[in-house]
Amino acid sequence: MVAIAKSLPRRQFDVVVVGAGGSGMRCSLQLAQAGLSVAVLSKVFPTRSHTVAAQGGIGASLGNMSEDSWYWHMYDTVKGSDWLGDQDAIEFMCREAPNAVYELEHFGMPFDRNPDGTIYQRPFGGHTANFGEKPVQRACAAADRTGHALLHTLYQRNVAARTQFFVEWMALDLIRNDDGDVLGVTALEMETGDIYILEAKTTVLATGGAGRIWAASTNAFINTGDGMGMAARAGIALQDMEFWQFHPTGVAGAGVLVTEGVRGEGGILLNKDGERFMERYAPTLKDLAPRDFVSRCMDQEIKEGRGCGPDGSYVVLKLDHLGADTINKRLPSIREIAIKFANVDPIREPIPVVPTIHYQMGGVPANYHGQVVSWENGESKVVNGLYAIGEVAAVSVHGANRLGTNSLLDLIVFGRAAGNHIVEAHLERQHAHQPLPQESVDKSLARFDELESRTAGEKTQDVGNAIRHTMQKHCGVFRTLDMLNEGCNLIDDLAHQVANVAYQDKSKVFNTARIEALELQNMIDVARATIHSAAARKESRGAHALDDFPERNDEEWIKHTLWYSEGNKLDYKPVQMKPLTVESFPPKTRTF
Ligand SMILES: Cc1cc2nc3c(=O)[nH]c(=O)nc-3n(C[C@H](O)[C@H](O)[C@H](O)COP(=O)(O)OP(=O)(O)OC[C@H]3O[C@@H](n4cnc5c(N)ncnc54)[C@H](O)[C@@H]3O)c2cc1C
Repeated sequence: MVAIAKSLPRRQFDVVVVGAGGSGMRCSLQLAQAGLSVAVLSKVFPTRSHTVAAQGGIGASLGNMSEDSWYWHMYDTVKGSDWLGDQDAIEFMCREAPNAVYELEHFGMPFDRNPDGTIYQRPFGGHTANFGEKPVQRACAAADRTGHALLHTLYQRNVAARTQFFVEWMALDLIRNDDGDVLGVTALEMETGDIYILEAKTTVLATGGAGRIWAASTNAFINTGDGMGMAARAGIALQDMEFWQFHPTGVAGAGVLVTEGVRGEGGILLNKDGERFMERYAPTLKDLAPRDFVSRCMDQEIKEGRGCGPDGSYVVLKLDHLGADTINKRLPSIREIAIKFANVDPIREPIPVVPTIHYQMGGVPANYHGQVVSWENGESKVVNGLYAIGEVAAVSVHGANRLGTNSLLDLIVFGRAAGNHIVEAHLERQHAHQPLPQESVDKSLARFDELESRTAGEKTQDVGNAIRHTMQKHCGVFRTLDMLNEGCNLIDDLAHQVANVAYQDKSKVFNTARIEALELQNMIDVARATIHSAAARKESRGAHALDDFPERNDEEWIKHTLWYSEGNKLDYKPVQMKPLTVESFPPKTRTF
């Protein structure tokens, strides 16, 4: 093995960014423009990253269409997070938001426009004026293709800045030395099947989410949580993994997302009696209450027999009253999705929708500079040479529940902040590459070789399906301790099966069987982290709604969960309640 590792081809860069979504490309742009040598790896062509699918908008208090302030945005985000978000990071993000969006505008991002030429903004769930008084128009939108516009803009800027893209390259493992410093990654070139060592003074994880560990998901197939698997195998804890967002409006049966922007434009949810039920649950914000809340109300309607369809299994989203002009101008892709996936034209009929897994609030713990942090002896410590940004990171601005439009914002704000921080660190100490720890590289190769040499065992697809169905059944919108504990046992059993997966096709060129088996090894760590963290949190907060403990318990549970792969261990660390410059928002009951 050692001989093989020594003979592996190597490339050296100042920075390796794993992931070419919005966060990875915002960061790499900052780095390439500063003259650093940057490699960006992606499993797919950069503009096919999941960011391309983002529909509704990016949040910033521009105040173009109704009075707004970053401070109200901060309050909404803290409240939306159910007081589990770190208030220093939230202040940083909401203050930076307008400039981050204007910067995109100056990059050439084609936002929709108001008649006076300013950026068009629509209302979105949980975003309010004057601390919850009424909905505010804060979501900057490019029709219902905001992520598409964003990602293409960033790609073009990166090409101009001469960022080096490694397209269809899959990062396998972090290379970490005995001091814990990260010195690059091992990676598989999918086209040839060859493995490389990519050495870097700084490595950035920007691998996005892992919504594919559920059976019904709005996420792209590539969202398998690779960055979290890499971090967990390298001994780094995963934070707050019990918090997963169910988006209220996935197309029933298909999972494809219908943006909250539909409700922002005036769409409403109805039960089988034609009742606009959200008026009952959230008298002020109604259909525009935050996602965790709306999803639970929908689930409740369905459970209590007021669902639509032959088996009462969904509710409907009505938007015909907006008129064909608005639908065609502001929501053209939604119309297309409804026609293709639900067989209804929303200009005439409502769309059948159900809560569908959408977004992970947790991830690899990072501070608001993007640096990955560990928690040792009651103190936060920076992991040298490693950053995490975007959905893979828990900064944590989203806490227990993310507000819509705050993810695209988080990509841009923290992608840029991490880029700036890395540039400064490099200017300060132009340190050379450190010697490579052979042991760490060998460990990664051993994992690969073991998989490659096994000829009999479980099928990737079967084990993957079992994981997805277990998560769907045992870790849903409402959870019970019995279901979660049973789920823990099932997922632990499946972890043994993952360790015994075999594929028959051993060819090298574009071998998708091999890639899927490698992805499965990441997915299982995400699933273990999720279900064990969930079973341990004995309260209900944000997206974690536990029937056995229906109330939020601020005395015991305002703390971040940390899960370690080795030994399946849990630990906790405090939430940062102190913002950077303003007064802290103390916890209070969430009503809408
Ligand atoms: C359908 C949909 C609609 C959404 N709409 C909105 C919205 O309107 N507003 C909003 O704020 N948020 C929205 N979100 C959430 C938001 O879009 C995502 O959280 C965000 O785009 C994630 O960006 P990212 O940069 O973290 O990663 P992604 O865009 O997911 O990119 C991940 C990158 O990592 C690469 N990668 C992964 N693993 C590896 C590996 N092992 N090796 C090499 N490369 C790897 C992938 O190839 C990809 O390039 C939406 C999400 C979905 C699913």
